[in-house]
Amino acid sequence: MILLATTNRGKIKEFKGMLGKEFEIVVPEDKIEVAESGKTYEENALIKAKAYFEVYKIPTVAEDSGLEVRGLGWRPGVLSNRFFGEGLSDKERCLRLLEMLKDKEDEERIARFVCCIAYFEGETPRFFKGDVFGYIIREMRGEGGFGYDPIFFYPDFDGTFAEIGEKKNLVSHRRRALEKLKRFLKGS
Ligand code: IMP
Repeated sequence: MILLATTNRGKIKEFKGMLGKEFEIVVPEDKIEVAESGKTYEENALIKAKAYFEVYKIPTVAEDSGLEVRGLGWRPGVLSNRFFGEGLSDKERCLRLLEMLKDKEDEERIARFVCCIAYFEGETPRFFKGDVFGYIIREMRGEGGFGYDPIFFYPDFDGTFAEIGEKKNLVSHRRRALEKLKRFLKGS
């Protein structure tokens, strides 16, 4: 049994789709407020994993993820959720990012999603990382996914992560990190 230390519905749906058949996944009833004060994905993922483990006392998987854009010096990165301030909707964040990039040439629009998973069961934490490259298109496209998916174009599937449905889970940063976690869990 594994606790998935998040209340983000987009992340829960993806994790369950990718892990659900092989592992019993439980999700927290309530969000535990933690300050994501780390400077790296690893630090923030571990802060979350430990906070939830303290309460639930079962092996815990937490993740921290973000979007990095070349033309922004690979920001917003770990700050992806609050780069434009607190309390904005996913759509508002996408529009703000598009606005920031409006004068940027194609090569400046190259972007990657990064996911760092922390696994914690009370002793030594483990980390598993994945990333995926694409680029930021010029308008929002698609209804699926969450976060910055509608503006993240993935050339191999000729669509944004919000347009390609379940195919996102074949190649995403989360999938790639999760495959490493699965290998670890099966081996331990
Ligand atoms: P956190 O990991 O909860 O701090 O938030 C990471 C933020 O990065 C999310 O709220 C999204 O804005 C963005 N993000 C991370 N992964 C994805 C993804 O798979 N699709 C779209 N946006 C993502």
